Amino acid sequence: MTIPHGDLLYEGKAKRIYAGAEDKQVLVEFKNDATAFNAQKKAQLDDKGRLNCRISACLFEVLEREGIPTHYCGIAAETWMVVQRVEVIPVEVVLRNIATGSLCRETPIAQGTPLEPALLDLYFKDDSLGDPLLTDARLALLGVVSSEMRERIELLARNVNAVLIPFFREIGLQLVDFKLELGINAAGELLVADEISPDTCRLWDLSCLDAEERILDKDRFRKDLGGVIEAYGEVCKRVQGACPTPRNCS
Ligand code: 5GP
Repeated sequence: MTIPHGDLLYEGKAKRIYAGAEDKQVLVEFKNDATAFNAQKKAQLDDKGRLNCRISACLFEVLEREGIPTHYCGIAAETWMVVQRVEVIPVEVVLRNIATGSLCRETPIAQGTPLEPALLDLYFKDDSLGDPLLTDARLALLGVVSSEMRERIELLARNVNAVLIPFFREIGLQLVDFKLELGINAAGELLVADEISPDTCRLWDLSCLDAEERILDKDRFRKDLGGVIEAYGEVCKRVQGACPTPRNCS
């Protein structure tokens, strides 16, 4: 289903962004495209767009209820979300509660090590450079965010983690790690932007001890484990329990 929209403003790997009816809003269409390893691996996964749209909407509403500002306005259709227009900060914030993924490939830290407090890393958002890890010195050299903005970004990201860890635990999921993108709206507010979904979070089923079976996120696609959509569907079913009818914004 396509809904009325303005010009295509941007097409990313998993979403298209269109001009909205109001200047302050844009429309996000969630695609079925799955990509990994900086789009070297690609597939079409039926229903992924709808599931990620619904999961993200619910999680944005959970954050909103806890007073965390996000770009989310509401759902316009199954794969369409209305969000505030923001200036995207070219930094990806990754929070890790348990060591896995690139942290274990790049350091001697053992898989599964609990990280308390969560490890927070900033990456430069640039696909052509492979989203490189930013050191303090590189961040200062690039001048992409001021030190004051960096403090606000880190506080916001840690607050998101503090809300999402217990939320997921309640529905039997462990929030292993996740990536956030942030933006600044017309009023100068810092907001959580982009999406929060099994594409951007690692989620393990707490009731399952098997190291592969418990994976309910994009690692199923990255590692060719199969059952990707079934896993996303399971996350959606559980998350929806907390937010059965996301706000309609059509
Ligand atoms: P890692 O650095 O271990 O590959 O990823 C850490 C976490 O951030 C994982 O939950 C992963 O899904 C997420 N993440 C990091 N970079 C990206 C990215 O460019 N795209 C997406 N979708 N997720 C990312």
